[in-house]
Amino acid sequence: FDKTGTLTEGRMEVIKTKATGKYSADELLQLAASVEKESTHPLARAIVRFAERKEIALIPTKDVKVVPGQGVSALVNGREIKVGSSKFVSANSNEKVNLTVVYISVDSTVSGFIEFVDSIKKDTIAAINELKQRGIRCVMLTGDRSEVAESFGEIFGITEVHAEVLPGEKAGIISRYQDRGEIVAMVGDGINDAPALTQADVGIALGTGTDIAMESGDIVLVKGDLAGVVRTAILAEATFKKIKQNLFWAFIYNVIAIPLAFLGLLHPVIAEGAMALSSINVVWNSNRLRKTHLF
Ligand code: ADP
Ligand code: MG
Repeated sequence: FDKTGTLTEGRMEVIKTKATGKYSADELLQLAASVEKESTHPLARAIVRFAERKEIALIPTKDVKVVPGQGVSALVNGREIKVGSSKFVSANSNEKVNLTVVYISVDSTVSGFIEFVDSIKKDTIAAINELKQRGIRCVMLTGDRSEVAESFGEIFGITEVHAEVLPGEKAGIISRYQDRGEIVAMVGDGINDAPALTQADVGIALGTGTDIAMESGDIVLVKGDLAGVVRTAILAEATFKKIKQNLFWAFIYNVIAIPLAFLGLLHPVIAEGAMALSSINVVWNSNRLRKTHLF
């Protein structure tokens, strides 16, 4: 599972801006919002919304570079502003709070950070619980800070957490699980999840996510709810069971009837009837899949 926008709503809201250098919190917010207006990332939109609410005017920017899974940089009044993860702005990430944080640097000097909250989707905990009960190992991959990832993981009941993962690395982590013989389904919504969705044995994209994620996924959960992941697992299991049952029914008739026919103990008309019956049997059995109780 990706975290932001998949297990959580991904509707980030700014709590506050903290200034640690010579710029005031409002100045930093103005710089950050000016740079972030070019990005569609949930954090970027939250910053711009927050600045609008505080009636802070945006400044024109130049050379905007959006780096997926890391942040955005641009020139504002001749100064190079970077807004993004601690790695992206080369900040020492020593904030103790379990909140998503975005750092701001001005001409390579870290000048402050912005704290965000995100809410958990209402069916996340129940869905993870159900999957675990079905013997499916749940793992979280996120570009967010490890403190945030760990505390969300605790709430979700996910102990295997990979944090501060770059978009390119998500696919790599999945292939490492595959090398160990695991069959992996990846659930994600973002641009940064697309390579991982492709790499996984089954890519499950959320319909509320980005187009590229939906293109990369094998399955699209239109409503973007995690109950869909459980339903997918249940339906897949039930389908596989049906395939095995149907193979049994397709073969058993032949295994019994062909030797009998060889021995001349089976009238061709009865054999013909048995052939049709085996097909009917298989179709009828498949049709019963519709009665599968989904989550
Ligand atoms: P996730 O993997 O949880 O969906 P992302 O990979 O989208 O998260 O983002 C990972 C981190 O990169 C964010 O927590 C943030 O620090 C940084 N980041 C990514 N895009 C932006 C942006 N537009 N503005 C600021 N920070 C960003
Ligand atoms: Mg996401």
